[in-house]
Amino acid sequence: MTKATPPGRKTAGRAWPPLRAELQLSGRPGGGLLIVDPVTGRKLGLDPLGAKVASQLKQSRTDSELGTTLGPGVPAAALQERLRFLNDQALLEGPRAVRLRRAYAQPSGGSADVLDLPFATEDGLRHACQACGSCCSATDVGPLPEPVVDAIMESDWSDELPGETKETLFRNVAPPGDSRSVWLTSMRNDQCVFLDEDRLCRVHRKLGVEKKPTPCKQFPYVFTRVGDRIDVGLQMECRAFDRAKAAAAPTREQGESLRELIRSGAPVHSVPAVLEFSPGILVGRDELDEVEQRLIAAVRGVAPSSGPGAILAAFTTIAGEFGRRVRQPIEDGDRALGLTSARSVATTGEFFEHLRAFLDEGADVAESRQLPHLARRFRSLSEALPLWELAFDPRIFRTIGPEPGELVADVLVAGLVGKEALRRGVSVELGLALLALKGVLMVVLAASRARSACRVHLVAQDLVDSMVLASKLLRERAMVDFLEDSAETVIQSFIHRIPEITRHAGPHAPSA
Ligand code: SF4
Repeated sequence: MTKATPPGRKTAGRAWPPLRAELQLSGRPGGGLLIVDPVTGRKLGLDPLGAKVASQLKQSRTDSELGTTLGPGVPAAALQERLRFLNDQALLEGPRAVRLRRAYAQPSGGSADVLDLPFATEDGLRHACQACGSCCSATDVGPLPEPVVDAIMESDWSDELPGETKETLFRNVAPPGDSRSVWLTSMRNDQCVFLDEDRLCRVHRKLGVEKKPTPCKQFPYVFTRVGDRIDVGLQMECRAFDRAKAAAAPTREQGESLRELIRSGAPVHSVPAVLEFSPGILVGRDELDEVEQRLIAAVRGVAPSSGPGAILAAFTTIAGEFGRRVRQPIEDGDRALGLTSARSVATTGEFFEHLRAFLDEGADVAESRQLPHLARRFRSLSEALPLWELAFDPRIFRTIGPEPGELVADVLVAGLVGKEALRRGVSVELGLALLALKGVLMVVLAASRARSACRVHLVAQDLVDSMVLASKLLRERAMVDFLEDSAETVIQSFIHRIPEITRHAGPHAPSA
């Protein structure tokens, strides 16, 4: 990064690269500077000192040259702060500028109507509902548009739900003072009020599938627009997933029914052209696409009978390489400029202790808010966490057959195709680590279930139930916030240090 300074130049200190050539600079009232970045479209303002520094960086300058031209009155800390800002915002030539231009390199595309876009499906992700009713429990069903609620309430429910009204069968969760209505179905004993004793839907039986809320018709499908296609993913929260998968036709054969879901209002998320890989570091949608394909190939390339550990190792090997490829040049560049920022990273053991404390506190809060079922979910995971060092140890717990490995592979692939990181609002790198964390928590929870049933074998239902619990917990806002606050540790523990947990170096790790 730091070029050798030409002869005759004051060589003391670092050589600061020049401002990026394409930036448009203009004066601001009071002596500041406005920078317009044509690559990102950003407008950034600099204060008078920042403006002075920037005006000196039309070419590379050393520290001492800057010191001289800016004069003795400028405190070193103030100068450092402006230089770090210019660097961190990728306004200087160097690795950050290269990364930024790369992220914005591909055309944003995607102007076609969403109903005209082709579906992209992954063969391993398939589902045929087994009507077990589990998706009608432990979740919020909605938001539901008023006309959908009114259409259900047009029917007389007094025979099977006596004394119930619109306001008791549905909850309006619009913020206080908000004139709009945001309806969810009411939950009784942690399940939808319309779920009958036979685990079937009263709305479906009484009014037909058409009158069911869209989230119910859509589950478990997740639609995400990626430029000029729609990726069809699965929400891995079906307690009959293994049976539903076994009974299902390939998803690619269900194009018309999937399109009908979108026509009837199923949300289609959209991947922006540029995404945050980690704070201040961007990647292009095409780069994410490319690494997703490699991750899916790596995960599907491992024989499921090798077990969850080998699957996770193959996933994290690729995720780790991608992370290094994106981050390393920038970290090296910052280091060469003496701009490395200290990152607090805990050990994996410390992380699980912190997570346990968070879960116990979360359970207490949930109980205090009359949410016993959420409290139970937090406690189940908290009680299972001490098994993290044993769960992947084949001498302690054994997985039988391909199912456990295959299920962990399905969860990782579903998370990629369903763009979970995007839907959680977290960075790409943290999103990959959260997927690996989900895989780990599935096995740890399954080990806990096996242990409480006095078994050493993890059976498919252990993994399926643990998958549902881990998926539900990892989309709790409080949980996402906790994990985001521990991002560096989560990334180190569940991408770069995964062998510490899985005891598998990854027999199937493809070369970079
Ligand atoms: S409306 Fe029916 S399908 Fe939807 S959550 Fe309730 S019981 Fe389940």
